[in-house]
Amino acid sequence: MYSPPERLLLGPGPSNAAPTVLQAMNSPLIGHLDPDFIKMMEEIKTMLRKVFKTENEMTFPISATGSAGMETCLVNLIEPGDKVVVGVNGVFGMRMCDVAERCGAEVVKIEAEWGNIIEASALETTIKTYSPKLVAIVHAETSTGALTPIEEISRITQNAGALLLLDTVTSLGGCQVAIDEWGVDAVYSGTQKCLSCPPGLAPVSFSPRAMEVISNRKTKVQSWYLDINFLANYWGSERVYHHTAPISMNYALHEALRLVIDEGLETRWSRHKQAHETLKNGLAKLGLSITSQEGHQLWQLNAVSVPEGTDEAKVREQLLNEFGIEVGAGLGPLKGKIWRIGLMGHNATDENAELFLEALGKCLA
Ligand SMILES: *Cc1c(COP(=O)(O)O)cnc(C)c1O
Repeated sequence: MYSPPERLLLGPGPSNAAPTVLQAMNSPLIGHLDPDFIKMMEEIKTMLRKVFKTENEMTFPISATGSAGMETCLVNLIEPGDKVVVGVNGVFGMRMCDVAERCGAEVVKIEAEWGNIIEASALETTIKTYSPKLVAIVHAETSTGALTPIEEISRITQNAGALLLLDTVTSLGGCQVAIDEWGVDAVYSGTQKCLSCPPGLAPVSFSPRAMEVISNRKTKVQSWYLDINFLANYWGSERVYHHTAPISMNYALHEALRLVIDEGLETRWSRHKQAHETLKNGLAKLGLSITSQEGHQLWQLNAVSVPEGTDEAKVREQLLNEFGIEVGAGLGPLKGKIWRIGLMGHNATDENAELFLEALGKCLA
């Protein structure tokens, strides 16, 4: 049997799964149409609604990773020729543009410097000029460590009669996400970031307004696997066979959500804030700083400045080999300039922040 090394995963994901989540995956398999499994699927849907803070009936996990959640939202909402405005301030905004273009959308990008947020004011003029069908925003940009506020963007989007799509892959379970209060129409997430579950499922939720738009499509959804109409019959009361849900991953998500709800959303968010502050204070003592926009820095993913003259790849290598700690590198324009330090879900503790700081101090000495 393959035996992986022990790692403390403080990168951009996956984060370490909570021990009981891994334990849940060891449970015996049952059939995906077994009444007991169906009961568990219902519990997952109920818990997901609590964590997303939504009443949306159409809330369930896609059997694939976060990117498939992104693709599910875009393929179902977009028909060829539709206008879509995408906020691009990092890798995942770029990915949304690529997927939307493949759906045949006319994509208009609102760009911000990597590390900064998408400003509502920058969106407003574009939305007024183009009258898009959909506005797509990454809430927590894992590639840069910036958290874009959603309330004002949502107000502008709603006033323009457009739908709002939100990427919450890194925000869900780590900081406030409030789908109904914010008027978000479609949202996706992933299991391996602040939910502390292995990668493999992508929770999604669609508002009644989004479902109406989908039901009025003139063209077929171009993906068979991600067609929400089929998935609704599988996850809904009909339980029509569509694909075989990854049984053990669903056990894992069930346990991960149970842990989130048991801890309490607010308590969990404060724990992430606390770990981030401990990290930030310790970094200052090392003469380092967090490079993302002041006032909008993510707690769960910290973009840390690489000191002048330091070989950033060597430090990452040493952290991994000597200390068993994985951290992430910078991407795109931030390549070589930052390390990405994740304090996500189960890993968001003062203890882990201090472990990292001590190891980094030794690497830099
Ligand atoms: C990780 C991530 C994704 C992609 O998820 P995968 O599970 O890697 O497919 C999408 N958006 C954001 C913001 C992410 O952090």
